Amino acid sequence: MSAQNPVFIPGPTNMPEAIRKACDMATIDHRSPVFGEILAPCLANVRTILKSDSAQIFLFPSTGTGGWETALTNTLSPGDRVLAARNGMFSHRWIDMCLRHGLNVEVVETPWGAGLPADRFEEILTADKGHEIKAVLATHNETATGVRSDIAGVRKALDAAGHPALLFVDGVSSIASMDFRFDEWGVDVAVTGSQKGFMLPAGLAIVGFSRRAVEASANAGLPRTFFDIKDMETGYAANGFPYTPPVGLMNGLRLATEMLLDEGLGTVFGRHHRIAEGVRAAVRAWGLELCAQSPDLYSDTVSAIKTPDGVNATDIVTHAASTYGVAFGTGLGEVAGKVFRIGHLGSLTDVMALSGIATAEMCMADLGLDVTLGAGVAAAQDYYRSTPAASVRQAA
Ligand SMILES: *Cc1c(COP(=O)(O)O)cnc(C)c1O
Repeated sequence: MSAQNPVFIPGPTNMPEAIRKACDMATIDHRSPVFGEILAPCLANVRTILKSDSAQIFLFPSTGTGGWETALTNTLSPGDRVLAARNGMFSHRWIDMCLRHGLNVEVVETPWGAGLPADRFEEILTADKGHEIKAVLATHNETATGVRSDIAGVRKALDAAGHPALLFVDGVSSIASMDFRFDEWGVDVAVTGSQKGFMLPAGLAIVGFSRRAVEASANAGLPRTFFDIKDMETGYAANGFPYTPPVGLMNGLRLATEMLLDEGLGTVFGRHHRIAEGVRAAVRAWGLELCAQSPDLYSDTVSAIKTPDGVNATDIVTHAASTYGVAFGTGLGEVAGKVFRIGHLGSLTDVMALSGIATAEMCMADLGLDVTLGAGVAAAQDYYRSTPAASVRQAA
């Protein structure tokens, strides 16, 4: 049988058929006006999704990781001080990238499962009277732990300290799925990729720069070529790119952003929240706990679920793949073997989520965990029945 189950990994996410088709394009001349007709709506729609009036949007043939590199190399110089917290694998990797670029990172070690320590940031920024810290790195949604941090709180910390550092936000697993407010939060660089909330294949780094961040590029000493925003800006000005653009992916992005804006951002975020609440109801019914330490931190795009002592969480993921052909996420780094992750973002409905919950339940029962078949599904069903979906699309 060639039928395929949905994936429940927190990226890449399931792709709507229409978006797959939009990526499948005949070759066009990317120096013709046709390319501009794809590029312009992509840039405008991404800006709208970031809730910004003025952010400059850049699309690189890359992934979220290339977006991190774009943020760092266009704004900073070797030896610059950067402030970041390590509370999961993705914040860890961004810190590692800073170190490899010769930046001087002040790392606030934070429990995996906790949110960004805005109070600690405020103390450190206040103590930095000489304003040596040039940037604060903030992972909005730590995909390894299922923790969503309060970016408005990080902005408040910067403002309370009267500190001019740039604010860089990794929104790879939040943007287009959970509320993100570029302008209101005073974000200077927002980073995301194509294969999570945007429901596309991997292959695009999607970044937004504030005016201050663009200005910083004039004096930024880190070397950059492929990810140089000035080259990209020059390309855009002529409806083009500094090199060959991935036209099909960008055509997919145009459609994906139109679909998200047609659904309405509030509806998209509400759908993610509702689906996530059902998953969390199931987790409670299983008698298990989330890695996220408190409800205010719960992510609406991914749940990292702690397994009881003595149960290797990775076995659940391996078993799901081999026995049921369903993909869940393993634990990464410090929480490897201790959590498994259910990704619930992108092109997903409550009914699809129920199938993932049912599969996780079968796996846990197969492996001898003390869960009653149907308990998690029933809890999610109860939640979904009592909270109407904003819209249900019938197959055309
Ligand atoms: C997936 C992810 C990344 C890495 O993105 P790639 O597209 O795999 O390079 C970075 N940060 C977060 C929070 C992520 O979820």
